[in-house]
Amino acid sequence: MPLRFFNTYSRGIEQFEPHEPTARPIRMYTCGPTVYSRAHIGNFRAYIFEDLLQRHLELRGYKVHRVMNITDVEDKTIRGASEAGVPLQKFTEQFKEAFFEDARTLRIKRADEYPAATEQRYIDRMIDMISALISKGLAYQADDKSVYFRINKFPEYGKLAHFDLTQLQSTGRVKHDEYDKEHIGDFALWKAWDEADGDVKWDSPWGPGRPGWHIECSAMSTALLGDQIDIHCGGVDNIFPHHEAEIAQSEGVTGKKFVNYWLHCAHLLVDGQKMAKSLGNFYTVPDVLAKGYTGRELRYALLRVHYRVPLNFTWEGMNEARESLARIDEWLARLRQLVGTAQRADPTSHFEDALDDDLNISAALGFLFESIRETNRTMDQNEMDAAAASAWLDWWNRINTILDLEASVDVAIPDEVAQLAEQREEARREKNWKRSDELREQISALGWEVRDTKDGPKLTRATVSA
Ligand SMILES: [Zn+2]
Repeated sequence: MPLRFFNTYSRGIEQFEPHEPTARPIRMYTCGPTVYSRAHIGNFRAYIFEDLLQRHLELRGYKVHRVMNITDVEDKTIRGASEAGVPLQKFTEQFKEAFFEDARTLRIKRADEYPAATEQRYIDRMIDMISALISKGLAYQADDKSVYFRINKFPEYGKLAHFDLTQLQSTGRVKHDEYDKEHIGDFALWKAWDEADGDVKWDSPWGPGRPGWHIECSAMSTALLGDQIDIHCGGVDNIFPHHEAEIAQSEGVTGKKFVNYWLHCAHLLVDGQKMAKSLGNFYTVPDVLAKGYTGRELRYALLRVHYRVPLNFTWEGMNEARESLARIDEWLARLRQLVGTAQRADPTSHFEDALDDDLNISAALGFLFESIRETNRTMDQNEMDAAAASAWLDWWNRINTILDLEASVDVAIPDEVAQLAEQREEARREKNWKRSDELREQISALGWEVRDTKDGPKLTRATVSA
């Protein structure tokens, strides 16, 4: 089955063809974090979607060259540094580190490059691009000394977001608020320095100042991936104005189609509401870990819903993630017991086929759990031979290069828990049910659950109540 993706640009499902059908890697650009605070789980939902996309492309035999930028200078980072009374670099450094730590916790594959907007080579490139836009009449310096993109000179503006910007006329009131721009939709390419910027400034042909957020991505993406990109991703709230502006700037400079496939990830809701600090439903990765969940569980919870569908995050959903992973763990353990010297057989490729269809992870996981149910039944009836078990494990290893959900040391059974389980088994052999129940409770107090199966007791992480 050919790979198909929903392209925001056309608002339709399109068959995926890399820009040049050669062995060269797919050029993938993903808008990264703005490092003014710790990224929240909604941000990570988008990063996990991009991770899934990259891993699936790789499973399908493509090489991927992925760039994720770090926005370390814009309004919020400057305000944050000034409020904290520390230099910008020092202020953003802590959130960069936190971002990489959280990405590791969630097993997100590293991008090939993480350019930061404040690196001089990119600032230079931004200035070059802005100069080129001015010389083509696509940008102008206003009375406030800032440089703006002239959207009226770029007829394609609004095409990605499906906005008709001719409807947006400058009015007297707008002129009053935005006195320096020709059109309300004109966006800043270069922001002239003012006192609130403190010592955050770079020299430019237009005087001291700093780049606008949008030009940062145009400069870093074209610097590292060339004028034309195969896949550009982000969250839906990046579509307008950020990605619309990236197209205008990049195509304005190069005259070439900037991006072939635009893929956007839907919002994350918490308990059905938009996440907001004021609502007390704003969570970072450490907030979720502090509730007793693992990175693997959070990865699963953020991964399991199709990326174009809003994902409703709940603690119940986290418990379901835990239960789903326990089902996978037990299934793997059973298969591994059966495997001996075995020959290859091939279960199916339904999982990968579902992902070929615009990354349909819900269907893919549905197929995984259906397979788990069926193979468990076969094992219950002692009808699974070593060859079949081995084939299923091979299949799992293959799809796990995408999912990356296998248990690791973070769910190793602690000695204390193992000993209590051992004592409980002894109590059960002696038919001392009271003692056995007491021990079960002690195990549960340590965050573990013991279940008696026909293969003996099985320990899993207990479900945490919110
Ligand atoms: Zn961006």
